[in-house]
Amino acid sequence: MRKLLLIFLAALCCDLALLLWCLAPRPDLEVYFFDVGEGDSELISWNNGAKILIDGGRAGRLGAELGRALGPAERRIDLMLLTHCQVDHLGGLKEVVERYEISVFAYNGCIDNPPEWALLKEELDKRGVRLVALTSGDRLRIGESEIKILSPLPNLRPTVSDENGRVITFLLKGFGRSFLFMSDAPPELETKVAAEIGSAVDVLKVSHHGSRFSSTGNFLAAVRPRLSVIEVGANSYGHPAAEALGRLGLYGSVYRTDLSGTIRVFLDSGILHVFSARTPGG
Ligand SMILES: [Zn+2]
Repeated sequence: MRKLLLIFLAALCCDLALLLWCLAPRPDLEVYFFDVGEGDSELISWNNGAKILIDGGRAGRLGAELGRALGPAERRIDLMLLTHCQVDHLGGLKEVVERYEISVFAYNGCIDNPPEWALLKEELDKRGVRLVALTSGDRLRIGESEIKILSPLPNLRPTVSDENGRVITFLLKGFGRSFLFMSDAPPELETKVAAEIGSAVDVLKVSHHGSRFSSTGNFLAAVRPRLSVIEVGANSYGHPAAEALGRLGLYGSVYRTDLSGTIRVFLDSGILHVFSARTPGG
């Protein structure tokens, strides 16, 4: 029986690299922080096959990274989550919608309205993908894991200039570990999130590409991240700021996609492992 299964898998995998990929054991939970330049994109994947893609960076950067992470045979993503409607988070999602079957699309309501959003929305509508607006208090259950949505607050008065204040932030808990995703949260939102979760986290997706205004001392004292990941690329904003790096470094290891490439964090039997595509300076 085992032999038959191997033969079947071998038929799916057309060369040795693909065969090794197909036969590799899947960890309990894995999170990819993709190197998409100055922008955000993450993939969360569970051992039961569930997959959530969060943001897509700018156009043209995500496709190859996502293909490597999902593997050659995968054509389905259960949930695509857009934290807010800015180009460095949504630009790469249209090509993903064109290539993969998306079950549900979740977003913050998109008060900001760049042309890229209209094109993405058109593609989602064309394929009949269901859109769901998330607000704080919403919860998603995936097997034994739970995602708790921490923002945006419901009934927040929408203004275009406040798009960062309306980002989706969330806490993922599963297999005894916690991951906090802060999108482009400004300091005021960090304060609200810290009050809401009130405990340390294992992994932090750092706010706003390591901006000097975010990752405040009070926020970090509340969430005390053992491992922080900054998604950042070439930019004119001074991201990541030395001040933010200094504050984050007080609590644990800090990884940056501009130095390490795509960063993969995975959980097996409760142990956290970190792999990066490159060695900084290497
Ligand atoms: Zn951003």
